[in-house]
Amino acid sequence: MNPVSDGYEGQATMESSRPDEGLPGAANDVALSPVSFLHRAADVSGDDIGVRTETGEAVSWARLRTRAEQLSGALRGLGLEAGDRVAVLAPNGLPLLEAHYGVPGAGCALVALNTRLAPQEYELLLRLAEAKVLLVDPSLADKVADAAPRLPALRAVLTLGPGDGAYEDCLRAADPATLRLPADERQPLAVNFTSGTTGGPKGVVYTHRGSYLNALGQVHSTGLRSDSRYLWTLPMFHCNGWCHTWAVTAAGAEHLVLPKVEPERVLDLMEHHRVTHLCGAPAVLDSLVEHGGRRRGRFPQRALFAVGGAAPSPTAIEAMTALGVDIMHLYGMTETYGPSLVCEPRPEWRGFDAPRRASVLARQGVRTVNVESARVVTESFEDVPADGRTTGELIIRSNTVMSHYLDDEEATRAALRGGWLHTGDVAVRHPDGYLEIRDRLKDVIISGGENLSSIEVENALRRHPAVAEAAVVAQPHARWGEVPVAFVRLRDGGEATGEELTDWLRERMAHFKVPRQIHFSDLPKTSTGKVRKAELRNRLQ
Ligand code: ADP
Repeated sequence: MNPVSDGYEGQATMESSRPDEGLPGAANDVALSPVSFLHRAADVSGDDIGVRTETGEAVSWARLRTRAEQLSGALRGLGLEAGDRVAVLAPNGLPLLEAHYGVPGAGCALVALNTRLAPQEYELLLRLAEAKVLLVDPSLADKVADAAPRLPALRAVLTLGPGDGAYEDCLRAADPATLRLPADERQPLAVNFTSGTTGGPKGVVYTHRGSYLNALGQVHSTGLRSDSRYLWTLPMFHCNGWCHTWAVTAAGAEHLVLPKVEPERVLDLMEHHRVTHLCGAPAVLDSLVEHGGRRRGRFPQRALFAVGGAAPSPTAIEAMTALGVDIMHLYGMTETYGPSLVCEPRPEWRGFDAPRRASVLARQGVRTVNVESARVVTESFEDVPADGRTTGELIIRSNTVMSHYLDDEEATRAALRGGWLHTGDVAVRHPDGYLEIRDRLKDVIISGGENLSSIEVENALRRHPAVAEAAVVAQPHARWGEVPVAFVRLRDGGEATGEELTDWLRERMAHFKVPRQIHFSDLPKTSTGKVRKAELRNRLQ
Protein backbone atom coordinates (compact mmCIF):
# COMPACT_ATOMS: atom_id res chain seq x y z
CA MET A 1 0.00 0.00 0.00
CA ASN A 2 1.29 3.37 -0.92
CA PRO A 3 -0.50 6.12 1.01
CA VAL A 4 0.59 8.92 -1.32
CA SER A 5 -0.15 7.14 -4.56
CA ASP A 6 -3.74 8.20 -4.90
CA GLY A 7 -2.99 11.14 -7.15
CA TYR A 8 -4.26 13.78 -4.81
CA GLU A 9 -0.87 15.13 -3.90
CA GLY A 10 -0.45 16.12 -7.52
CA GLN A 11 -3.35 18.51 -7.24
CA ALA A 12 -1.36 21.14 -5.43
CA THR A 13 0.74 21.70 -8.52
CA MET A 14 -2.16 21.72 -10.96
CA GLU A 15 -4.30 24.69 -11.65
CA SER A 16 -7.32 24.71 -9.37
CA SER A 17 -10.81 25.45 -10.60
CA ARG A 18 -12.17 26.12 -7.15
CA PRO A 19 -13.51 29.67 -6.86
CA ASP A 20 -12.39 30.21 -3.30
CA GLU A 21 -9.33 28.37 -2.03
CA GLY A 22 -10.07 29.70 1.46
CA LEU A 23 -13.10 27.45 1.89
CA PRO A 24 -12.53 23.94 3.20
CA GLY A 25 -13.40 22.53 -0.21
CA ALA A 26 -10.89 19.71 -0.41
CA ALA A 27 -12.62 17.68 2.31
CA ASN A 28 -15.91 17.53 0.45
CA ASP A 29 -15.18 18.41 -3.13
CA VAL A 30 -12.79 16.21 -5.06
CA ALA A 31 -12.76 16.02 -8.83
CA LEU A 32 -14.70 12.99 -10.03
CA SER A 33 -12.45 10.89 -12.22
CA PRO A 34 -12.42 7.18 -13.09
CA VAL A 35 -8.66 7.29 -12.54
CA SER A 36 -9.49 7.11 -8.84
CA PHE A 37 -11.07 3.66 -9.38
CA LEU A 38 -7.66 2.22 -10.24
CA HIS A 39 -6.08 3.89 -7.25
CA ARG A 40 -8.70 2.35 -5.00
CA ALA A 41 -8.39 -1.13 -6.54
CA ALA A 42 -4.59 -1.01 -6.25
CA ASP A 43 -4.70 0.39 -2.70
CA VAL A 44 -7.28 -1.96 -1.25
CA SER A 45 -6.65 -5.17 -3.20
CA GLY A 46 -3.36 -4.59 -4.97
CA ASP A 47 -2.35 -8.27 -5.09
CA ASP A 48 -5.65 -9.46 -6.49
CA ILE A 49 -5.96 -10.20 -10.18
CA GLY A 50 -7.25 -7.15 -12.00
CA VAL A 51 -6.71 -8.32 -15.56
CA ARG A 52 -6.25 -11.63 -17.29
CA THR A 53 -4.66 -11.06 -20.66
CA GLU A 54 -5.42 -12.90 -23.89
CA THR A 55 -2.43 -15.17 -23.26
CA GLY A 56 -3.76 -16.06 -19.81
CA GLU A 57 -1.26 -13.90 -17.90
CA ALA A 58 -2.66 -12.59 -14.60
CA VAL A 59 -1.98 -8.93 -13.90
CA SER A 60 -2.58 -7.62 -10.38
CA TRP A 61 -4.21 -4.26 -9.72
CA ALA A 62 -0.91 -2.99 -8.34
CA ARG A 63 0.87 -3.99 -11.54
CA LEU A 64 -1.80 -2.43 -13.71
CA ARG A 65 -1.36 0.83 -11.84
CA THR A 66 2.42 0.64 -12.14
CA ARG A 67 2.17 0.11 -15.88
CA ALA A 68 -0.30 2.98 -16.22
CA GLU A 69 2.09 5.16 -14.21
CA GLN A 70 4.91 4.20 -16.53
CA LEU A 71 2.76 5.17 -19.49
CA SER A 72 1.88 8.44 -17.83
CA GLY A 73 5.60 9.08 -17.20
CA ALA A 74 6.47 8.16 -20.79
CA LEU A 75 3.91 10.67 -22.11
CA ARG A 76 5.31 13.40 -19.94
CA GLY A 77 8.79 12.41 -21.08
CA LEU A 78 7.60 13.02 -24.64
CA GLY A 79 6.62 16.53 -23.60
CA LEU A 80 2.86 16.04 -23.56
CA GLU A 81 0.83 18.49 -21.54
CA ALA A 82 -2.64 18.59 -20.06
CA GLY A 83 -5.26 18.54 -22.79
CA ASP A 84 -3.04 16.85 -25.41
CA ARG A 85 -4.52 13.86 -27.15
CA VAL A 86 -3.11 10.35 -27.34
CA ALA A 87 -4.56 7.92 -29.86
CA VAL A 88 -4.50 4.15 -29.56
CA LEU A 89 -5.13 1.84 -32.48
CA ALA A 90 -5.27 -1.64 -31.03
CA PRO A 91 -7.66 -4.50 -30.42
CA ASN A 92 -8.77 -5.18 -26.85
CA GLY A 93 -5.66 -5.88 -24.80
CA LEU A 94 -3.68 -4.83 -21.75
CA PRO A 95 -2.14 -1.74 -23.43
CA LEU A 96 -5.52 -0.35 -24.49
CA LEU A 97 -6.93 -0.96 -21.02
CA GLU A 98 -4.01 0.66 -19.22
CA ALA A 99 -4.20 3.64 -21.60
CA HIS A 100 -7.63 4.31 -20.07
CA TYR A 101 -5.75 5.23 -16.89
CA GLY A 102 -2.24 6.23 -17.96
CA VAL A 103 -3.44 8.76 -20.55
CA PRO A 104 -6.00 10.65 -18.40
CA GLY A 105 -3.71 10.21 -15.39
CA ALA A 106 -1.21 12.35 -17.31
CA GLY A 107 -3.92 14.98 -17.93
CA CYS A 108 -4.27 13.96 -21.59
CA ALA A 109 -7.33 12.73 -23.50
CA LEU A 110 -7.53 9.23 -24.94
CA VAL A 111 -8.67 8.63 -28.50
CA ALA A 112 -9.35 4.90 -28.85
CA LEU A 113 -9.68 4.23 -32.57
CA ASN A 114 -11.94 1.70 -34.22
CA THR A 115 -9.75 -1.15 -35.49
CA ARG A 116 -11.68 -1.78 -38.69
CA LEU A 117 -11.22 1.44 -40.61
CA ALA A 118 -9.34 2.21 -43.82
CA PRO A 119 -6.01 4.13 -43.95
CA GLN A 120 -7.67 7.34 -45.23
CA GLU A 121 -10.12 7.22 -42.32
CA TYR A 122 -7.30 6.92 -39.80
CA GLU A 123 -5.55 9.86 -41.39
CA LEU A 124 -8.73 11.94 -41.09
CA LEU A 125 -9.40 10.96 -37.46
CA LEU A 126 -5.80 11.50 -36.33
CA ARG A 127 -5.87 14.89 -38.02
CA LEU A 128 -9.20 15.87 -36.45
CA ALA A 129 -7.97 14.71 -33.04
CA GLU A 130 -4.58 16.41 -33.49
CA ALA A 131 -3.11 13.38 -31.75
CA LYS A 132 0.40 13.97 -30.45
CA VAL A 133 1.21 10.33 -29.74
CA LEU A 134 -0.13 7.20 -31.38
CA LEU A 135 0.15 3.74 -29.85
CA VAL A 136 -0.41 1.13 -32.52
CA ASP A 137 -0.68 -2.64 -32.54
CA PRO A 138 1.84 -4.25 -34.96
CA SER A 139 -1.03 -5.93 -36.84
CA LEU A 140 -2.47 -2.51 -37.71
CA ALA A 141 0.73 -0.51 -38.11
CA ASP A 142 0.67 -0.55 -41.92
CA LYS A 143 -2.73 1.17 -41.91
CA VAL A 144 -1.20 4.33 -40.46
CA ALA A 145 2.37 4.09 -41.74
CA ASP A 146 1.84 6.29 -44.82
CA ALA A 147 -0.23 8.91 -43.02
CA ALA A 148 2.03 9.37 -39.97
CA PRO A 149 4.64 11.63 -41.63
CA ARG A 150 1.85 13.83 -43.04
CA LEU A 151 0.41 14.60 -39.60
CA PRO A 152 2.06 17.74 -38.22
CA ALA A 153 0.84 17.29 -34.62
CA LEU A 154 2.06 13.70 -34.31
CA ARG A 155 5.32 13.47 -32.36
CA ALA A 156 5.69 9.78 -31.76
CA VAL A 157 4.31 6.47 -32.94
CA LEU A 158 4.93 3.65 -30.48
CA THR A 159 4.40 0.11 -31.64
CA LEU A 160 2.86 -2.15 -29.02
CA GLY A 161 4.55 -5.37 -27.98
CA PRO A 162 8.26 -5.94 -27.36
CA GLY A 163 10.86 -4.91 -29.92
CA ASP A 164 12.96 -2.04 -31.08
CA GLY A 165 11.65 1.35 -30.01
CA ALA A 166 8.48 -0.34 -28.94
CA TYR A 167 5.96 0.58 -26.32
CA GLU A 168 7.22 -1.93 -23.75
CA ASP A 169 10.76 -0.53 -23.98
CA CYS A 170 9.36 2.92 -23.62
CA LEU A 171 7.46 1.92 -20.46
CA ARG A 172 10.58 0.33 -18.99
CA ALA A 173 12.65 3.41 -19.68
CA ALA A 174 10.04 5.85 -18.38
CA ASP A 175 10.18 7.66 -15.11
CA PRO A 176 6.82 6.57 -13.63
CA ALA A 177 4.47 9.44 -12.83
CA THR A 178 1.68 9.25 -10.27
CA LEU A 179 -1.71 9.07 -11.97
CA ARG A 180 -3.32 12.39 -11.23
CA LEU A 181 -6.89 13.40 -10.84
CA PRO A 182 -7.70 16.53 -12.82
CA ALA A 183 -8.11 19.84 -11.03
CA ASP A 184 -11.31 20.27 -12.98
CA GLU A 185 -13.55 17.22 -13.34
CA ARG A 186 -14.95 18.70 -16.57
CA GLN A 187 -11.57 18.30 -18.23
CA PRO A 188 -11.71 16.06 -21.32
CA LEU A 189 -10.77 12.48 -20.61
CA ALA A 190 -11.55 10.87 -23.96
CA VAL A 191 -12.63 11.64 -27.49
CA ASN A 192 -14.72 8.99 -29.21
CA PHE A 193 -15.49 9.28 -32.89
CA THR A 194 -18.98 8.36 -34.03
CA SER A 195 -18.98 5.74 -36.75
CA GLY A 196 -20.32 8.23 -39.22
CA THR A 197 -23.57 6.38 -39.99
CA THR A 198 -25.16 9.84 -39.72
CA GLY A 199 -22.72 12.01 -41.70
CA GLY A 200 -19.00 12.53 -41.24
CA PRO A 201 -17.25 11.33 -38.07
CA LYS A 202 -17.68 13.61 -35.08
CA GLY A 203 -15.36 13.56 -32.07
CA VAL A 204 -17.51 13.17 -28.96
CA VAL A 205 -15.76 14.65 -25.92
CA TYR A 206 -16.09 12.79 -22.61
CA THR A 207 -15.16 14.44 -19.33
CA HIS A 208 -13.70 12.83 -16.21
CA ARG A 209 -16.93 13.60 -14.39
CA GLY A 210 -19.26 12.07 -16.99
CA SER A 211 -17.10 8.96 -17.35
CA TYR A 212 -17.01 8.48 -13.59
CA LEU A 213 -20.78 8.78 -13.30
CA ASN A 214 -21.58 6.56 -16.25
CA ALA A 215 -19.13 3.90 -15.06
CA LEU A 216 -20.83 3.80 -11.66
CA GLY A 217 -24.19 3.72 -13.44
CA GLN A 218 -23.00 0.58 -15.26
CA VAL A 219 -21.91 -1.03 -12.00
CA HIS A 220 -25.43 -0.42 -10.79
CA SER A 221 -27.22 -1.57 -13.96
CA THR A 222 -25.28 -4.80 -14.42
CA GLY A 223 -24.64 -5.62 -10.76
CA LEU A 224 -20.84 -5.88 -11.06
CA ARG A 225 -19.14 -6.87 -7.79
CA SER A 226 -15.63 -7.62 -6.62
CA ASP A 227 -16.14 -11.33 -7.32
CA SER A 228 -17.47 -10.73 -10.86
CA ARG A 229 -15.52 -11.77 -13.96
CA TYR A 230 -16.09 -9.58 -17.00
CA LEU A 231 -15.26 -10.98 -20.45
CA TRP A 232 -14.34 -8.32 -23.01
CA THR A 233 -16.58 -9.18 -25.97
CA LEU A 234 -17.25 -5.49 -26.61
CA PRO A 235 -14.52 -3.40 -28.28
CA MET A 236 -12.90 -1.04 -25.79
CA PHE A 237 -12.77 1.52 -28.58
CA HIS A 238 -16.57 1.69 -28.68
CA CYS A 239 -17.57 4.38 -26.16
CA ASN A 240 -14.64 3.12 -24.04
CA GLY A 241 -16.43 -0.21 -23.90
CA TRP A 242 -19.64 1.52 -22.72
CA CYS A 243 -17.47 2.74 -19.80
CA HIS A 244 -16.76 -0.83 -18.65
CA THR A 245 -13.04 -0.07 -18.95
CA TRP A 246 -13.67 1.90 -15.74
CA ALA A 247 -16.81 0.23 -14.34
CA VAL A 248 -15.15 -3.18 -13.94
CA THR A 249 -12.25 -1.56 -12.10
CA ALA A 250 -14.64 0.47 -9.91
CA ALA A 251 -16.23 -2.80 -8.82
CA GLY A 252 -12.82 -4.44 -8.32
CA ALA A 253 -14.00 -7.20 -10.66
CA GLU A 254 -11.68 -9.09 -13.04
CA HIS A 255 -11.17 -7.93 -16.64
CA LEU A 256 -10.79 -10.92 -18.98
CA VAL A 257 -9.33 -9.38 -22.06
CA LEU A 258 -10.22 -10.77 -25.47
CA PRO A 259 -8.88 -9.28 -28.70
CA LYS A 260 -11.34 -10.95 -31.05
CA VAL A 261 -14.86 -12.31 -30.68
CA GLU A 262 -15.01 -15.91 -31.87
CA PRO A 263 -18.18 -17.54 -30.57
CA GLU A 264 -16.61 -20.93 -29.76
CA ARG A 265 -13.79 -19.30 -27.83
CA VAL A 266 -16.18 -17.00 -25.99
CA LEU A 267 -18.28 -19.96 -24.91
CA ASP A 268 -15.15 -21.86 -23.81
CA LEU A 269 -13.90 -18.89 -21.80
CA MET A 270 -17.32 -18.40 -20.24
CA GLU A 271 -17.24 -21.96 -19.04
CA HIS A 272 -13.58 -22.18 -18.09
CA HIS A 273 -13.34 -18.85 -16.23
CA ARG A 274 -16.90 -18.88 -14.93
CA VAL A 275 -17.55 -15.53 -16.54
CA THR A 276 -20.34 -13.59 -14.85
CA HIS A 277 -20.65 -10.60 -17.18
CA LEU A 278 -20.22 -9.79 -20.83
CA CYS A 279 -21.54 -7.19 -23.24
CA GLY A 280 -22.06 -6.88 -26.92
CA ALA A 281 -24.16 -5.87 -29.88
CA PRO A 282 -27.11 -8.05 -30.93
CA ALA A 283 -24.83 -9.55 -33.63
CA VAL A 284 -22.62 -11.01 -30.86
CA LEU A 285 -25.66 -12.27 -28.97
CA ASP A 286 -26.96 -13.90 -32.16
CA SER A 287 -23.63 -15.63 -32.85
CA LEU A 288 -23.42 -17.01 -29.31
CA VAL A 289 -26.97 -18.28 -29.57
CA GLU A 290 -26.21 -19.99 -32.90
CA HIS A 291 -23.13 -21.75 -31.51
CA GLY A 292 -24.27 -22.19 -27.92
CA GLY A 293 -27.49 -23.88 -28.93
CA ARG A 294 -25.57 -26.41 -30.97
CA ARG A 295 -22.97 -27.46 -28.48
CA ARG A 296 -23.99 -27.36 -24.85
CA GLY A 297 -26.58 -27.01 -22.16
CA ARG A 298 -26.81 -24.36 -19.50
CA PHE A 299 -23.78 -22.70 -17.93
CA PRO A 300 -23.18 -23.69 -14.30
CA GLN A 301 -22.67 -20.09 -13.09
CA ARG A 302 -25.10 -17.20 -13.26
CA ALA A 303 -24.06 -14.97 -16.11
CA LEU A 304 -25.43 -11.76 -17.49
CA PHE A 305 -25.14 -10.64 -21.10
CA ALA A 306 -25.73 -6.91 -21.49
CA VAL A 307 -26.88 -6.33 -25.05
CA GLY A 308 -27.18 -2.97 -26.78
CA GLY A 309 -26.07 -0.75 -29.63
CA ALA A 310 -29.03 -1.88 -31.74
CA ALA A 311 -32.32 -3.59 -30.95
CA PRO A 312 -31.91 -7.28 -30.02
CA SER A 313 -34.65 -9.60 -31.23
CA PRO A 314 -36.93 -11.24 -28.65
CA THR A 315 -36.02 -14.56 -30.34
CA ALA A 316 -32.33 -14.19 -29.46
CA ILE A 317 -33.17 -13.01 -25.94
CA GLU A 318 -35.31 -16.07 -25.36
CA ALA A 319 -32.68 -18.46 -26.76
CA MET A 320 -29.87 -16.98 -24.63
CA THR A 321 -32.03 -17.11 -21.52
CA ALA A 322 -32.62 -20.79 -22.24
CA LEU A 323 -28.82 -21.30 -22.07
CA GLY A 324 -28.92 -19.97 -18.52
CA VAL A 325 -27.60 -16.51 -19.36
CA ASP A 326 -29.66 -13.55 -18.15
CA ILE A 327 -30.15 -10.69 -20.56
CA MET A 328 -29.83 -7.05 -19.65
CA HIS A 329 -30.91 -4.78 -22.47
CA LEU A 330 -29.18 -1.40 -22.70
CA TYR A 331 -29.68 1.53 -25.00
CA GLY A 332 -27.29 4.36 -25.60
CA MET A 333 -25.22 6.33 -28.00
CA THR A 334 -21.67 7.58 -28.22
CA GLU A 335 -23.04 10.97 -27.12
CA THR A 336 -24.28 9.44 -23.83
CA TYR A 337 -21.06 7.63 -22.86
CA GLY A 338 -22.80 4.43 -23.97
CA PRO A 339 -25.75 3.15 -21.91
CA SER A 340 -28.42 5.60 -20.76
CA LEU A 341 -31.53 3.39 -20.75
CA VAL A 342 -31.78 -0.05 -19.20
CA CYS A 343 -34.60 -2.54 -19.40
CA GLU A 344 -34.71 -3.19 -15.70
CA PRO A 345 -36.48 -6.49 -15.07
CA ARG A 346 -39.68 -6.17 -13.00
CA PRO A 347 -40.56 -8.81 -10.38
CA GLU A 348 -43.92 -9.47 -12.03
CA TRP A 349 -42.19 -10.53 -15.26
CA ARG A 350 -41.01 -13.70 -13.49
CA GLY A 351 -44.51 -15.04 -13.91
CA PHE A 352 -44.52 -14.43 -17.68
CA ASP A 353 -43.93 -17.27 -20.11
CA ALA A 354 -40.58 -17.20 -21.96
CA PRO A 355 -41.75 -15.46 -25.19
CA ARG A 356 -43.61 -12.74 -23.28
CA ARG A 357 -40.67 -12.15 -20.97
CA ALA A 358 -38.35 -11.87 -23.98
CA SER A 359 -40.63 -9.37 -25.67
CA VAL A 360 -40.83 -7.06 -22.63
CA LEU A 361 -37.04 -7.35 -22.28
CA ALA A 362 -36.56 -6.34 -25.93
CA ARG A 363 -37.80 -2.87 -24.99
CA GLN A 364 -35.13 -0.30 -24.22
CA GLY A 365 -36.55 0.45 -20.79
CA VAL A 366 -36.08 3.21 -18.29
CA ARG A 367 -33.31 5.69 -17.60
CA THR A 368 -30.20 4.41 -15.84
CA VAL A 369 -29.49 5.68 -12.33
CA ASN A 370 -27.11 8.36 -13.64
CA VAL A 371 -29.59 9.83 -16.15
CA GLU A 372 -31.81 12.64 -14.87
CA SER A 373 -34.48 12.55 -17.51
CA ALA A 374 -35.41 10.65 -20.67
CA ARG A 375 -38.52 11.86 -22.50
CA VAL A 376 -40.28 11.02 -25.72
CA VAL A 377 -41.62 14.21 -27.27
CA THR A 378 -43.52 15.41 -30.30
CA GLU A 379 -42.15 18.09 -32.61
CA SER A 380 -43.79 20.70 -30.39
CA PHE A 381 -41.96 19.29 -27.36
CA GLU A 382 -45.04 17.69 -25.74
CA ASP A 383 -44.56 14.33 -24.04
CA VAL A 384 -46.27 11.57 -25.99
CA PRO A 385 -49.00 9.67 -24.10
CA ALA A 386 -47.95 6.39 -22.45
CA ASP A 387 -50.01 4.34 -24.89
CA GLY A 388 -47.30 2.24 -26.53
CA ARG A 389 -48.39 3.63 -29.90
CA THR A 390 -47.74 7.35 -30.27
CA THR A 391 -44.21 7.97 -31.45
CA GLY A 392 -41.90 10.88 -30.72
CA GLU A 393 -38.19 11.62 -30.46
CA LEU A 394 -36.25 10.41 -27.45
CA ILE A 395 -34.48 13.29 -25.72
CA ILE A 396 -32.14 12.99 -22.75
CA ARG A 397 -30.80 15.24 -20.01
CA SER A 398 -28.01 13.88 -17.89
CA ASN A 399 -24.58 14.51 -16.40
CA THR A 400 -23.61 11.71 -18.74
CA VAL A 401 -24.41 13.53 -21.95
CA MET A 402 -21.23 14.44 -23.86
CA SER A 403 -19.50 17.73 -23.18
CA HIS A 404 -19.41 18.70 -26.89
CA TYR A 405 -18.31 17.63 -30.35
CA LEU A 406 -14.65 18.35 -30.86
CA ASP A 407 -14.16 21.63 -32.77
CA ASP A 408 -17.74 21.64 -34.00
CA GLU A 409 -19.84 24.22 -32.24
CA GLU A 410 -22.62 24.14 -34.76
CA ALA A 411 -23.16 20.39 -34.47
CA THR A 412 -22.93 20.62 -30.67
CA ARG A 413 -25.55 23.35 -30.56
CA ALA A 414 -27.86 21.35 -32.80
CA ALA A 415 -27.49 18.13 -30.79
CA LEU A 416 -27.97 19.83 -27.40
CA ARG A 417 -30.56 22.43 -28.40
CA GLY A 418 -33.05 23.54 -25.77
CA GLY A 419 -31.02 21.86 -23.04
CA TRP A 420 -31.70 18.32 -24.23
CA LEU A 421 -29.70 15.79 -26.20
CA HIS A 422 -31.71 15.00 -29.31
CA THR A 423 -31.04 11.33 -29.95
CA GLY A 424 -32.57 11.11 -33.41
CA ASP A 425 -34.34 7.96 -32.25
CA VAL A 426 -38.07 7.45 -32.55
CA ALA A 427 -39.68 5.84 -29.52
CA VAL A 428 -42.97 5.10 -27.79
CA ARG A 429 -43.83 5.12 -24.10
CA HIS A 430 -45.64 2.06 -22.77
CA PRO A 431 -48.28 2.24 -20.04
CA ASP A 432 -45.75 0.85 -17.53
CA GLY A 433 -43.41 3.78 -18.30
CA TYR A 434 -40.90 1.67 -20.27
CA LEU A 435 -39.65 3.18 -23.51
CA GLU A 436 -39.29 1.30 -26.75
CA ILE A 437 -37.24 2.46 -29.73
CA ARG A 438 -39.10 2.02 -32.99
CA ASP A 439 -36.52 3.35 -35.42
CA ARG A 440 -33.88 5.90 -36.08
CA LEU A 441 -35.51 9.04 -37.50
CA LYS A 442 -33.66 8.49 -40.75
CA ASP A 443 -34.71 4.83 -40.95
CA VAL A 444 -38.42 5.40 -40.42
CA ILE A 445 -40.50 4.11 -43.32
CA ILE A 446 -43.58 6.14 -44.20
CA SER A 447 -45.93 4.18 -46.40
CA GLY A 448 -49.21 5.73 -47.51
CA GLY A 449 -48.82 8.34 -44.77
CA GLU A 450 -48.46 5.69 -42.03
CA ASN A 451 -45.23 5.39 -40.03
CA LEU A 452 -43.95 1.87 -39.94
CA SER A 453 -41.44 0.47 -37.47
CA SER A 454 -38.71 -1.46 -39.24
CA ILE A 455 -37.74 -3.05 -35.90
CA GLU A 456 -41.24 -4.51 -35.51
CA VAL A 457 -41.10 -6.15 -38.96
CA GLU A 458 -37.53 -7.37 -38.38
CA ASN A 459 -38.53 -8.99 -35.08
CA ALA A 460 -41.45 -10.75 -36.74
CA LEU A 461 -39.15 -12.10 -39.46
CA ARG A 462 -36.67 -13.24 -36.81
CA ARG A 463 -39.37 -15.35 -35.21
CA HIS A 464 -39.45 -17.53 -38.34
CA PRO A 465 -37.31 -20.61 -37.59
CA ALA A 466 -35.27 -20.36 -40.82
CA VAL A 467 -34.31 -16.71 -40.40
CA ALA A 468 -31.00 -15.76 -38.79
CA GLU A 469 -31.01 -12.00 -39.44
CA ALA A 470 -33.31 -9.46 -41.06
CA ALA A 471 -33.21 -5.78 -41.93
CA VAL A 472 -36.08 -3.76 -43.33
CA VAL A 473 -35.57 -0.50 -45.22
CA ALA A 474 -37.59 1.95 -47.28
CA GLN A 475 -37.79 1.89 -51.06
CA PRO A 476 -39.24 4.94 -52.81
CA HIS A 477 -42.63 4.18 -54.35
CA ALA A 478 -44.68 6.29 -56.78
CA ARG A 479 -48.02 5.65 -55.12
CA TRP A 480 -47.23 5.03 -51.43
CA GLY A 481 -44.25 7.34 -51.03
CA GLU A 482 -42.21 4.48 -49.59
CA VAL A 483 -42.66 0.75 -49.21
CA PRO A 484 -40.78 -1.65 -46.93
CA VAL A 485 -38.27 -4.04 -48.43
CA ALA A 486 -36.54 -6.80 -46.42
CA PHE A 487 -33.06 -8.27 -46.57
CA VAL A 488 -32.83 -11.64 -44.90
CA ARG A 489 -30.01 -14.03 -44.04
CA LEU A 490 -31.17 -17.57 -43.47
CA ARG A 491 -29.68 -19.85 -40.83
CA ASP A 492 -27.22 -22.52 -41.95
CA GLY A 493 -29.46 -25.28 -43.26
CA GLY A 494 -32.56 -23.05 -42.96
CA GLU A 495 -34.93 -22.98 -45.91
CA ALA A 496 -37.66 -20.47 -46.74
CA THR A 497 -38.86 -18.74 -49.89
CA GLY A 498 -39.84 -15.08 -50.13
CA GLU A 499 -43.43 -16.18 -50.53
CA GLU A 500 -43.36 -18.23 -47.34
CA LEU A 501 -41.90 -15.34 -45.35
CA THR A 502 -44.47 -12.96 -46.80
CA ASP A 503 -47.29 -15.29 -45.74
CA TRP A 504 -45.70 -15.62 -42.30
CA LEU A 505 -45.74 -11.84 -41.87
CA ARG A 506 -49.24 -11.38 -43.30
CA GLU A 507 -50.58 -13.64 -40.56
CA ARG A 508 -48.93 -11.46 -37.95
CA MET A 509 -49.24 -7.82 -38.99
CA ALA A 510 -51.13 -5.22 -40.99
CA HIS A 511 -50.53 -5.79 -44.68
CA PHE A 512 -49.03 -2.36 -45.36
CA LYS A 513 -46.14 -3.30 -43.07
CA VAL A 514 -45.28 -6.46 -45.00
CA PRO A 515 -42.20 -5.97 -47.22
CA ARG A 516 -42.91 -5.79 -50.95
CA GLN A 517 -39.76 -7.72 -51.73
CA ILE A 518 -37.57 -10.04 -49.74
CA HIS A 519 -33.92 -10.30 -50.78
CA PHE A 520 -31.75 -13.10 -49.45
CA SER A 521 -28.21 -11.96 -48.65
CA ASP A 522 -25.66 -11.29 -45.92
CA LEU A 523 -26.25 -8.01 -44.13
CA PRO A 524 -23.52 -5.34 -44.34
CA LYS A 525 -22.52 -4.28 -40.83
CA THR A 526 -20.53 -1.55 -39.13
CA SER A 527 -17.58 -2.63 -37.02
CA THR A 528 -19.80 -2.40 -33.97
CA GLY A 529 -22.29 -4.84 -35.42
CA LYS A 530 -24.99 -2.46 -36.69
CA VAL A 531 -26.61 -3.13 -40.02
CA ARG A 532 -25.66 -0.50 -42.57
CA LYS A 533 -29.15 0.40 -43.65
CA ALA A 534 -27.95 3.24 -45.88
CA GLU A 535 -26.02 0.69 -47.94
CA LEU A 536 -29.12 -1.52 -48.23
CA ARG A 537 -31.19 1.46 -49.35
CA ASN A 538 -28.57 2.24 -51.99
CA ARG A 539 -28.87 -1.29 -53.32
CA LEU A 540 -32.51 -0.54 -54.09
CA GLN A 541 -31.82 2.59 -56.15
P1 ADP B 1 -23.48 5.57 -34.61
O1 ADP B 1 -24.51 6.66 -34.36
O2 ADP B 1 -22.28 6.07 -35.24
O3 ADP B 1 -24.08 4.33 -35.21
P2 ADP B 1 -23.65 5.01 -31.80
O4 ADP B 1 -23.06 3.90 -31.05
O5 ADP B 1 -23.58 6.32 -31.16
O6 ADP B 1 -22.98 5.06 -33.19
O7 ADP B 1 -25.16 4.64 -32.11
C1 ADP B 1 -26.20 5.05 -31.30
C2 ADP B 1 -27.49 4.60 -31.90
O8 ADP B 1 -27.61 3.17 -31.87
C3 ADP B 1 -28.70 5.08 -31.15
O9 ADP B 1 -29.01 6.40 -31.49
C4 ADP B 1 -29.76 4.08 -31.59
O10 ADP B 1 -30.27 4.40 -32.87
C5 ADP B 1 -28.96 2.79 -31.71
N1 ADP B 1 -29.12 1.96 -30.51
C6 ADP B 1 -28.28 1.83 -29.49
N2 ADP B 1 -28.74 0.95 -28.58
C7 ADP B 1 -29.93 0.52 -29.04
C8 ADP B 1 -30.92 -0.39 -28.55
N3 ADP B 1 -30.75 -1.05 -27.42
N4 ADP B 1 -32.03 -0.57 -29.30
C9 ADP B 1 -32.21 0.10 -30.45
N5 ADP B 1 -31.32 0.96 -30.97
C10 ADP B 1 -30.19 1.17 -30.27
